[in-house]
Amino acid sequence: MQILLVEDNQALATALVQALQKQGYAANSVATGEAALYVIRTDVPDIIILDLGLPDIDGISVLKRVRKKHANLPVLLLTARSDLHDKIAGLDSGADDYLAKPFEISELFARIRVLERRLNTSGSAQISVGKVSLDINTNLVSFENEPLDLSRREFMLLKILLENAGRVLTRNTLESRLYSWGEEVASNALEVHIHHLRKKLGTDFIQTVRGIGYKVSSP
Ligand code: CA
Repeated sequence: MQILLVEDNQALATALVQALQKQGYAANSVATGEAALYVIRTDVPDIIILDLGLPDIDGISVLKRVRKKHANLPVLLLTARSDLHDKIAGLDSGADDYLAKPFEISELFARIRVLERRLNTSGSAQISVGKVSLDINTNLVSFENEPLDLSRREFMLLKILLENAGRVLTRNTLESRLYSWGEEVASNALEVHIHHLRKKLGTDFIQTVRGIGYKVSSP
């Protein structure tokens, strides 16, 4: 899960990115509307957290431009101003949710989890592929009906693969969903996580597509 934070308050941006990374998200931040639009053009995040008051382009304008190309990309607005007008303008422009500063970090996490659940388009809270099941609401994974203990990264990796069952995911796609920009990552880190998952799920559940990436078969 890759989250893009658009926030010009550097201290807040740094704190939020660190907190999100601790939760296991790949989190990146930019400080201007232009930078946000550039990033979204080149590598679409899974969720955007967008401050309304930006130094260059107004957050609402950024949101409107994002919405032209990405109708369903979840956007959570942040603002220092808690007035009703901003809230309505934001929601009218296609924001999915709204959080007024100051807020508790736990509330931000809860809102993100709601958006994450909404990204699951399978129509069911349970994704099952072969003997592996993942519950979107509880984040519990089971293998052969037994609960499975996974590290945060293993969980994220498995979740992306299950959500895209039947599709080949490239190394780049997987890495951008697992790691934030500038994070120190060993070149074989992805292989190591795959290796650990295979130890837990059997060797043939995750298939290597040579030269491209990985996939799990469709349910
Ligand atoms: Ca601001």
